[in-house]
Amino acid sequence: MDTTELISYNPATLVEVGRIAVTTTAELDSMIESAHDAFHGWRQDHDLRKGLLAACSYELMRKAEDIVPLLTTEQGKPRAEAASEVWIAAKSLAEAARTQWEPELLGAHTPVRTAFIERRPLGVVGAIVPWNFPVFLMAAKISAALAAGNTVIVKPAESVSLVVRKVVDVLAGVLPAGVISTAVGGPDVGRALMNHPKVRKVSFTGSTTVGKQIMRQAADTVTPVTLELGGNDPAILLADADIDRAATALAQGAFLNAGQICIAPKRVYAPTSLLDRFCRAFADRMDDLSVGDGLDPATRVGPLHNMRQLEIVSHLLEKAVAGGATVVRGGERGTDLPGHFLTPTLVRDIDDSAELVAVEQFGPVLPVVAYDDLDAVLSTLDDQEFGLGASVWGNDVENATDVALRIDAGTVWVNQHNALDVGLPFGGVKSSGFGREGGMQGIEDFLQTRVIDIKQ
Ligand code: NAD
Repeated sequence: MDTTELISYNPATLVEVGRIAVTTTAELDSMIESAHDAFHGWRQDHDLRKGLLAACSYELMRKAEDIVPLLTTEQGKPRAEAASEVWIAAKSLAEAARTQWEPELLGAHTPVRTAFIERRPLGVVGAIVPWNFPVFLMAAKISAALAAGNTVIVKPAESVSLVVRKVVDVLAGVLPAGVISTAVGGPDVGRALMNHPKVRKVSFTGSTTVGKQIMRQAADTVTPVTLELGGNDPAILLADADIDRAATALAQGAFLNAGQICIAPKRVYAPTSLLDRFCRAFADRMDDLSVGDGLDPATRVGPLHNMRQLEIVSHLLEKAVAGGATVVRGGERGTDLPGHFLTPTLVRDIDDSAELVAVEQFGPVLPVVAYDDLDAVLSTLDDQEFGLGASVWGNDVENATDVALRIDAGTVWVNQHNALDVGLPFGGVKSSGFGREGGMQGIEDFLQTRVIDIKQ
C-alpha cells in the first residue's frame, strides 16, 4: 500500500472538496490491534453499549449541520436528501440501542446437566461501504455490529472518504478508544482489511461484481461475509392500480439521489391498456424536478456521482433508443455546470431484451414496459439475476399481496416502493446478495453461537 492522498471532487462543479491520506499497512495493522484490544472491554457490558449507541445517535444529529453540506458537496445529493440520510443514520443507531436481545439462553437443564447457548460477538469486523449512501449504509452496519458487541473498522468508497471519516470521528468521540475507526483507501486497503487474521467478519455493500470478488477473497481466510449487492427493482402495476398514486410515489422513488439507490424502482411493468395513462401521469410529476447543484435549495435532482456512472447510464439510454425505445421526457446530458448531469428520463416502447431494462443502470432513468400476460412478467423476473426489492400496485390489496408472494426478492412492497424501515430486516436474494441488515436479524448477522454444556 502506498501512502498517498485521495482527492474528493464535487460532482456538480468538479471543484476539489478536500484531500485525505490513504491508510498505510502499518496504520491499518495498528488500527486492527487497537480494535482487538478494545473488543474485550466493549463486549462485556450490554447496557453500557446501548447507552453509548443512543449517545452516538444524539451526537450525530447534534453535528448534522457540519456533516450535511459535506455529504452534498462530496457525494452530490441535494441538501434535503443529505439531511434525511444523516437523520436515518442516527435512527439506525437509536434503533440498535433499543433492540432487546438475550446474550445467553438456557439450552438444556436437568438435575445433573445444564447447557447454555451463548450468542457472542465475533470480534473485530470490517464494514466496506459504497459511495451512494455513504453515511446511512455505514450506520446500518456499525449500529448492528456495535450493538452485538463487536468493534469495527469502516472502509468507505474512495470518493466519499471525507464525510465518512467525519462521521466516524463524531462517533469515536463518544465511544471508548479503538471501538470504531476508518481505513481510507481503495480495493487494496479493503482486501488487506478483510484478509487480516484478526478481522472476524466483513459486511460489504456495493456492486455485484465486487461482491463476487469479496466472496472469493473471503475464502482465503474463511472470513464470514454479508453481501448487500446490486438490484434492479421492478414495479408491477396491476390492472386495478391507482395510476396517480403509483406515478407520484414512483417518480419520487426513481429520481432520489439521481436514481443511484439500490432499491429505487428501476423499471415499471404496466398493462398495455394503462401504458399511455401511466406515462402521462408520470411525466406530469417530472415537471418540478429541477436539476442542479445540491447546495442550491431549488435543486431536486443532483448530478450523478462520477463520470463513469454518467457514461454507463447514457450509453444504455442511447442503445435503447437505437433499438426503438422512445424518450417521453428528459434524457439531456449536462447543465450550465461542469458536473455529471443527466436530466430525469422516462422511456417507453421498450422490453426486457433492452439492457436498460435488464441490467442495473443506477441512474435517473425509468423505462416502462407494457405487458399483457402477468404470468410471463413474473416468470421473466424469476429468471433474472437480481432479487433485492420489488413492488406491486393494485387497489385490491389482497390480490396485490398474492402477486407479491410470487416474487423472489428480499423485500416486496405493496402500493409503495423503497419504503425503508430500519427496524425491519433488509437484504437481497440471488445476485443481490445474502445476510440481512436492520432489526434483530441485523444484529444476529454479527453474532456467533457457543454452547457451554456442564455436567454436575
Ligand atoms: P463498488 O462495489 O465499486 O465498491 C464498494 C466498496 O468496495 C468500496 O468501498 C470499494 O473501495 C470497495 N472495494 C472494491 N474492490 C474491493 C476489493 N477487491 N476488496 C475489498 N474492497 C473492495 O460499489 P459502488 O460503485 O461504490 O456502489 C454502487 C453499487 O452498490 C451498486 O451496484 C448498488 O446497487 C450497490 N448498493 C447495494 C446496496 C444494498 O444494500 N444491496 C445499497 C447501496 C448500493
